[in-house]
Amino acid sequence: MSEYIKNLIAEVKAKNPAEPEFHQAVTEVADSLSVVLDKNPEYRRKKILERIVEPERVIMFRVPWVDDQGEVRVNRGFRIEMNSAIGPYKGGLRFHPSVNLGILKFLAFEQVFKNSLTTLPMGGGKGGSDFDPKGKTDNEVMRFTQSFMSELFRHIGPDTDVPAGDIGVGGREIGFLFGMYKKLRNEFTGVLTGKGLNWGGSKIRPEATGYGAVYFAQEMLKTKSQTLEGKKCLVSGSGNVAQYTVEKILQLGGTALTLSDSNGYIYDEAGIDAEKLAFLMDLKNVKRGRIKEYADKYSTAQYFETDPSAQFNPLWNHKADCAFPSATQNEINAVDAANLVRNGIYVVSEGANMPTNLDGVNVFVDSKILYAPGKAANAGGVAVSGLEMSQNSMRLGWGREEVDARLQTIMKDIHASCIAASSRYGLEGNYVAGANIAGFLKVADSMIDQGIV
Ligand code: NDP
Repeated sequence: MSEYIKNLIAEVKAKNPAEPEFHQAVTEVADSLSVVLDKNPEYRRKKILERIVEPERVIMFRVPWVDDQGEVRVNRGFRIEMNSAIGPYKGGLRFHPSVNLGILKFLAFEQVFKNSLTTLPMGGGKGGSDFDPKGKTDNEVMRFTQSFMSELFRHIGPDTDVPAGDIGVGGREIGFLFGMYKKLRNEFTGVLTGKGLNWGGSKIRPEATGYGAVYFAQEMLKTKSQTLEGKKCLVSGSGNVAQYTVEKILQLGGTALTLSDSNGYIYDEAGIDAEKLAFLMDLKNVKRGRIKEYADKYSTAQYFETDPSAQFNPLWNHKADCAFPSATQNEINAVDAANLVRNGIYVVSEGANMPTNLDGVNVFVDSKILYAPGKAANAGGVAVSGLEMSQNSMRLGWGREEVDARLQTIMKDIHASCIAASSRYGLEGNYVAGANIAGFLKVADSMIDQGIV
């Protein structure tokens, strides 16, 4: 790592204290960009990196609401408008008790490069709240989201900033958010993506992130003349991304063996078939139950409770071929990464954002397995959000096959861009460097074109 990058990271840490996830994301990207900055001094002169790590705007607000018992509750809302060099801010909203400024800044920062990789005109943003939808009634979720939108609405718009879902924000929450925005603005526009199909949503949007992560794995396997047929796969999480990852693995002839939530994980040695997946979707999306109930229902599955004091995650310690981390950030550390490699995993496609910590990333890169970082592998979600925006602008809706075909093309193109960028800088096979460099160049060149703003 060059002195310049070391100093830049030190400055980011000093200026943004107590934001470890943001430091981590900046460190990973900046490290990859050393070679680019050395060859292109213009980026240094124009202070592109210094500008890219500074959000264009941060909005933080109070979200008061009343629970079913009549108690007043107060949460904190955020929207990070990180970079609009190549299009309106675009990125999800996360509702989870762990949400804070640093986590959303890391997500918004990642989003800038990811959106650039999709080839679509979208800048980067992210937002959310420390509100926990778990255990809340539909009415409580509605009152919270309405209060959240009663502030957010003045900062967003179809040509300004277009939020979507993320952890804790699915179809139900997007519906309530959209309804409130429409009422406040008195306009029906494509201001959010992930909308219901009856009111402006795109086909394949719910499936897009999971399907895209599997399509990316397929592209990586192709470079070794292999397919997913017969491959054993470990999947973490059991929400939107995990569910459609399992569905696509099944469709392509692979077998998914695991799923998790924050309480524990299941290992199903017989594999998660279509019937079990339908049970899971009902359990998680309708009943809003826990993953343990999967093992109560299916005797082929074992349930393991999460042990917060453990130094590693046992989910990543099973023999398999591929891994699809699809829960949350930093769910794979160096021990987990070493366990995965030792157990024969040679494809890792990240559905979640930054699920592997920096030491874990180094293990994967050093072992030369096929390792795709989230900003490339999970870009299918935001890509189809971009397609939802296009359909809204044109006031028409494409069929399932058309959107799926476009998604597959975009994932292929992202894969090709990663390969091209890594090869151009002598880092063949390194998808981390490839994704960071390819994502950066388009944003950096656009920033130069637009002057010092
Ligand atoms: P969901 O809320 O639908 O599901 C999240 C899943 O991860 C749940 O099973 C949840 O368990 C688990 N999880 C969340 N936090 C933790 C934690 N701290 N420890 C252990 N398990 C946890 O979210 P998504 O599926 O939409 O998102 C999953 C990941 O994918 C996130 O990293 C997100 O940023 C990323 N992503 C999502 C996209 C999308 O289109 N939805 C697009 C691109 C990336 P529990 O119910 O117990 O909390």
